[in-house]
Amino acid sequence: MTALTGAGPAALAVLEARIAHGRECLIDRFDDWVPPAKGRDCDVVIVGGGQSGLAAAFGLMRMGINRVRVLDAATAGGEGPWVRFARMLTLRSPKWLWGPELGIPDLSFRAWCEAAHGPAFYAAIAKIPKDLWMDYLVWFRRVVGVTVENEATVRGIEPDAGGLRVAVTRGGLEQWLATRKVVLATGMDGCGKPALPAQLTAGLAPGTFAHTLDAIDFPALKGRRVAVLGAASSAFDNASTALEHGAAEVRLYCRHTTIARHNPNMSLVYPGSLQAFSDLDDGLRWEVMRHVFARASAPTRETLNRAVRQPGFRLVLGAPWQRLAAQDEGIAITTPAGTWSADFVIFGTGFAPDLASRPELATCADLIALWRDRYHPPPALASEAVGAYPYLGPGYEFLERTPATAAWLRDVHCFNYGATPSHGISVGGNPAMRFGVPRLVHAIVRDFMRADVEHHRRRMMSPPEPELDEGEWLGPWASAG
Ligand SMILES: Cc1cc2nc3c(=O)[nH]c(=O)nc-3n(C[C@H](O)[C@H](O)[C@H](O)COP(=O)(O)OP(=O)(O)OC[C@H]3O[C@@H](n4cnc5c(N)ncnc54)[C@H](O)[C@@H]3O)c2cc1C
Repeated sequence: MTALTGAGPAALAVLEARIAHGRECLIDRFDDWVPPAKGRDCDVVIVGGGQSGLAAAFGLMRMGINRVRVLDAATAGGEGPWVRFARMLTLRSPKWLWGPELGIPDLSFRAWCEAAHGPAFYAAIAKIPKDLWMDYLVWFRRVVGVTVENEATVRGIEPDAGGLRVAVTRGGLEQWLATRKVVLATGMDGCGKPALPAQLTAGLAPGTFAHTLDAIDFPALKGRRVAVLGAASSAFDNASTALEHGAAEVRLYCRHTTIARHNPNMSLVYPGSLQAFSDLDDGLRWEVMRHVFARASAPTRETLNRAVRQPGFRLVLGAPWQRLAAQDEGIAITTPAGTWSADFVIFGTGFAPDLASRPELATCADLIALWRDRYHPPPALASEAVGAYPYLGPGYEFLERTPATAAWLRDVHCFNYGATPSHGISVGGNPAMRFGVPRLVHAIVRDFMRADVEHHRRRMMSPPEPELDEGEWLGPWASAG
């Protein structure tokens, strides 16, 4: 095995040659075995070219499902949150955590980082700088051969005679893509939208507020008073970014009297849960998710320290926002703990599940089974939040709310944060792909085998390549009995 020496293009070339050799050793590619279907542009459309979409495409290709199209609304290299609205300096998860490499060590972040920047650099970083993670994902997709069609927005999915058709807008033009399967690898807000409390924003002028998911003009906040609602990592990251761009002060408001100290998701990061959460009974999954959703995760230590070290940072506890009102001297913020004023407001309020708010699901949201349609908890365990999420099948597939109304939904796989109540944290986050992708790929392989069963019956019963040539056994040793 050629050892990696130094860092940079030469070391990367050695690593890439090693990956290619490794994949050859693994026979890691298969020819297409899914029979081409008439009138189909492809077999699978993956919506989203972020880490989940890339890993899913890679997983499918490794199983010989190669007619896959990956579409992303973002520009090339801008997929996911990393260089768009993620305002942390590093990833929040540990640097050693698995990623999209699906068990191939040389495709891991560490292998790439050591080749690109040197083992000493990797050893020195505490956590992965977020822009570096994006560089790694761009490298990953090139090396495994996943093509992402960028600036292509999916605006609808509907059944047609041969399967599904997907409405795609790119360059202002609308086209339909005919496929058999759709994977929605659409990220944290893949089943909903930013949680913006309408009763709070109603009285605000456009341009005076934003959600942490939005593009925010931070240089324009120089010298201004900024208020942030929420106390999870994104709220703190946005507060720090505003101060680093010269905001006069940033007040972060937390409705609780303490800051959360735990990230409840981390209690689900172990193989049993990552692999088999979806096999647990409805009652337990509901109870666990109700617990996880009960309170936003704690900010990481780095995130907290980055904010509190800045002179202009203020934390207001026990201060849920009751009312916001635009006034001459700014936005008046009324809380039980008092009233403050700010020039700009940032909502660090996370996401709200709402399938109908997704352009790609708007026409079928009402047909999709939600948890509240399938499970009725005891009163003490009521949860509007869990109930609003889709109730998915074992392969992340949507299920119809009413039997025999939309069987085609089973060919749409919800591989985004919306899958959490059904599948635990086996989607989206870095620890997820190693467990979630094989489950998704298995479901798609299963469905193609079943859908094309006659083709496979013929194939499995057709004579394979003969082991022996005709009469090869004949010779002086053979005689008629
Ligand atoms: C700010 C932030 C920080 C995070 N930090 C961490 C962390 O440190 N560690 C960790 O493990 N997890 C973290 N996560 C969680 C998770 O890892 C990320 O959300 C990650 O980006 C999920 O990858 P993904 O591929 O599922 O979704 P994304 O990376 O969000 O990719 C989804 C893609 O889908 C595209 N898309 C969406 N809708 C459409 C459509 N209709 N048509 C076409 N394209 C569409 C988007 O453009 C986007 O590029 C973080 C999440 C956020 C929001």
